[in-house]
Amino acid sequence: MTTARFWRDNATRYNLIATKCGNCGKVTFPPRNVCPVCHRKSMGKMEKIHLSGHGEVYSFSVVYDAPLAFEMQKPYVIAIIKMAEGVMLTAQIIDCECCEVAIGMKVKATLRKIGEEGPGGVIHYGYKFVPA
Ligand SMILES: [Zn+2]
Repeated sequence: MTTARFWRDNATRYNLIATKCGNCGKVTFPPRNVCPVCHRKSMGKMEKIHLSGHGEVYSFSVVYDAPLAFEMQKPYVIAIIKMAEGVMLTAQIIDCECCEVAIGMKVKATLRKIGEEGPGGVIHYGYKFVPA
């Protein structure tokens, strides 16, 4: 992956930017240039929109056996979130006990540190979800 690509994708992740098809109204995340539903590129313009950050838990699993980098956080919850706009995304749910997470639970996105590259290195941020 090129540096430019990395930062462009990262900006998308920070801001929860999706695309909305000007032709059929389908919202897609991550953003796309061509609508996956009607395949219109030129007629219906793909408009960039900010997701509201609100959604609900569609499905989830509790991770007990975490990769080394996430050892301190385990157990933790990875969930598929159905956003208010209808798109699905996968993210960690934080600020609640694993046993409190349930399908249909209302959650909202928050920007958190997700990792860093060594002492004094680059810190990566991304969205995680907290109970709404
Ligand atoms: Zn479309």
